[in-house]
Amino acid sequence: MTAVDSALRATRTTCPYCGVGCGVLATPDDRGGAAISGDPEHPANFGRLCSKGSALGETLGLEDRLLYPMIRCSKGTMERVAWSDALDHVAHRFAHIIKRDGPGAVAFYLSGQLLTEDYYVANKLMKGFIGSANVDTNSRLCMASSVAGHRRVFGSDTVPGCYEDIDEADLIVLVGSNAAWCHPLLYQRMILARERRGARLVAIDVRGTATTETADLALTIQPGMDGVLFSALLVRLAETGQINQSFVENHTEGYDETLARARAIAPDLAVAARKCGLEEQVLSEFLDLWCATERVVTLYSQGVNQSWQGTDKVTAILNCHLAAGRIGRPGMGPFSLTGQPNAMGGREVGGLANQLAAHMGFSPAEVDRVGRFWRASRMATREGLKAVDLFEAVGRSEVKALWIMGTNPAVSLPQADDVRTALRNLDLLVISDNVRSNDTIAVGAHVLLPATAWGEKDGTVTNSERCISRQRPFLAPAAEARPDWWAMAQVARRLGFGEAFAHDGPAAIFREHAALSAFENDGSRDFDIGALAQLSDAGYEALAPVQWPLASGANEASARLFADGRFFTASGRARLTAITPPSLARTPSAESPLLLNTGRIRDQWHTMTRTGLSPRLGSHLPEPFVEVNPQDAKTYGLVHGELAEIRTAHGRAILRVKATTAQEPGRLFAPIHWSDETAAGARIGALIHAITDPASGQPDAKSMPASIAATSFARQGLILSRTRLRPAGDGIYAWRAIEGGYVAGVATNVPAEKLFAGLCAACPDAERMHYHDPARGTFRAAFIAEHRLVAVIFLGLDDRETAYASVAEMWKANQLDEPMRRRVLAGKSASSDVDMSPTVCACFGVTSRAIESAIGDGASSTLEIGARLKAGTNCGSCLPELRKFLASRNDVAA
Ligand code: SF4
Repeated sequence: MTAVDSALRATRTTCPYCGVGCGVLATPDDRGGAAISGDPEHPANFGRLCSKGSALGETLGLEDRLLYPMIRCSKGTMERVAWSDALDHVAHRFAHIIKRDGPGAVAFYLSGQLLTEDYYVANKLMKGFIGSANVDTNSRLCMASSVAGHRRVFGSDTVPGCYEDIDEADLIVLVGSNAAWCHPLLYQRMILARERRGARLVAIDVRGTATTETADLALTIQPGMDGVLFSALLVRLAETGQINQSFVENHTEGYDETLARARAIAPDLAVAARKCGLEEQVLSEFLDLWCATERVVTLYSQGVNQSWQGTDKVTAILNCHLAAGRIGRPGMGPFSLTGQPNAMGGREVGGLANQLAAHMGFSPAEVDRVGRFWRASRMATREGLKAVDLFEAVGRSEVKALWIMGTNPAVSLPQADDVRTALRNLDLLVISDNVRSNDTIAVGAHVLLPATAWGEKDGTVTNSERCISRQRPFLAPAAEARPDWWAMAQVARRLGFGEAFAHDGPAAIFREHAALSAFENDGSRDFDIGALAQLSDAGYEALAPVQWPLASGANEASARLFADGRFFTASGRARLTAITPPSLARTPSAESPLLLNTGRIRDQWHTMTRTGLSPRLGSHLPEPFVEVNPQDAKTYGLVHGELAEIRTAHGRAILRVKATTAQEPGRLFAPIHWSDETAAGARIGALIHAITDPASGQPDAKSMPASIAATSFARQGLILSRTRLRPAGDGIYAWRAIEGGYVAGVATNVPAEKLFAGLCAACPDAERMHYHDPARGTFRAAFIAEHRLVAVIFLGLDDRETAYASVAEMWKANQLDEPMRRRVLAGKSASSDVDMSPTVCACFGVTSRAIESAIGDGASSTLEIGARLKAGTNCGSCLPELRKFLASRNDVAA
């Protein structure tokens, strides 16, 4: 393994968040932290980082880390054990269950945040030696429909283009993708293409987002109707003579049937516009623009993929690019944006249950080929269980042992409450993670294995444009944390497969992975990195970002695939495929009259186990919320800023209401990030049905029938604490990190005295002060230890921002002086300079109040705001919000 540089030089590594895959320079500070900046030499970001990437240095602490292996003992508590004991236990229990119930009774559930080397070993062990293909990953929730669409149409899971196509496009179309927030640096590249070469930007979505706000043309379509829109496009291409006849005749099949189906779905403009919920003129403008622009890139992500017809939606987009012959050449092509840093690496090694390895499937020839390469003792011969099916099988006790690595399915899977129940059925639940606690661990793991975290990991990841980059360690592993591949290899040895898992480090695993990609390939498979199969350890250490394919003997990688019109189907032709008429999996009803959409926000990542540690990321959108159209807010008696209860057939959540015209009437939007660790009753996965796309197995997470009603609690307020207290009942609403601790917004029916008693129990040795005014419903208490505030509770204040501001100075103080002690419970800020308003620019910590003040002082453009405050001058993901501030100022002025 790579030694950490003792000279404290900058280490080149990669960001652990989205699929853009930005290069990062990390310079350790010798105190367990590191200075973070963008890598100017990385081709994904050329030195820039978004708000999440910039804040990576704030997420390196050990406070929440799992540091030692633990096993649940007979009393039900988790006890620290030696690694050898934990590994013996895992191997012994797996062996016992495999012997008793067969290999299908065990499974791995992985994460798009694992490194390729971890993924490779997991896949090899399960599919080659245990004899089951029950290896699936949270990438199933993210981009499985793109994989299925690619394989159906191209014959391979190929993203044909590269980021340079964005630089060279004249038209950039984003479908179901809020790239401005979810792929910020790629989005900035799109904006640059607009500025430099006049590229037009079109955003197609069911709601208004930071992306639609900045697009030249925004199409707000009906949920589930993307297939209608792209059917209308295929029809328009045919009717206007824009079909590339030569490409279609020489390189595709299925065109006539596909066009006939498109005509049935979108027979004319009026029908297509009605189904899509668009004005005819708007739809027509888009169709004309796409037809008339040779250099067009169509990018798509979760809005397309997370649908019960996700594979068809992807197919409809691919059909159009193929029919127009706009693929494989500079500035054009369909482009699936991956959500996670190594979703692509997982696909390369076969991390999905319906893939084998190196982009091979389960045909007898492929099973035989991989089996010979691995010298496998027990090859799986058929596909395993995809994520939703896997957890349902756990619920039926058909899968009895599950090893989860680096993911939190009790939050992220649909019908998440059912997942919790299912997990309790397991004979053996092993969790490898770097956090000590999350919702899945809380269900009751039998074994916890401490995994290395970002900054300690050593291996490779592949981004959305097939670019393989090194993730290098710049910190020593925390305590007894070990790489996931190492833990699996140790278990494999104990199961008797030591020879096949004798890798001495990630470089050896990578070489084997590269060699398998080239094994009996000869150009028959898209994924080939045979040129890297002989990489020395030093070469692996120094490996610069490289795009595949990179076959043995090739001097350089190909930036684009399909330039020669040859595809990886049996005929060598792309298969245009007729799609099923678009519809919703479930339509609204009298009981559930609204459609709930789910997604990500700008500054949080997945279930917040890392981004939740950063105070500046937490202050952009600090609480779980639901967006609702103002008309619906009126209909359902909701008040902006107050609380509402959302109900579906599967669960309920309490969320803060944001009334906004960004939501169409009849639709709701709620973010996915909050868990029971960070909030009470805000797990959105629990509300979503487990209906999946039949081809991809990806859950339908964007159109869930739901109801909404105003709800209220006897008292609201906030709690500050040095440690994060576990939310209980309806007592605590949402925690976020602040400097020196945590703050939680509270909405509760629990009497103030009971909350106070709870804090007294949590701070038993602290000095207590409290103030209670039952007539006004005001309760304030403070806990002081070693002359420092350790906890504060304020209930009954109208304005939580003011309440927070009133104690901010004392909270930060290491030593409370007497005047400070007197002010703690005053509920008023001593100085109007204390600014606790939400952060808008997370890169430079610029608040909404500072921006309003700059505009008030005459800043009239984003450039001028940037010049005064730096806001918007780094990653640019706050620029849409800056424009909103400017627009609302202009409205007021008008
Ligand atoms: S865009 Fe942001 S989150 Fe995505 S890889 Fe780059 S720095 Fe990380």
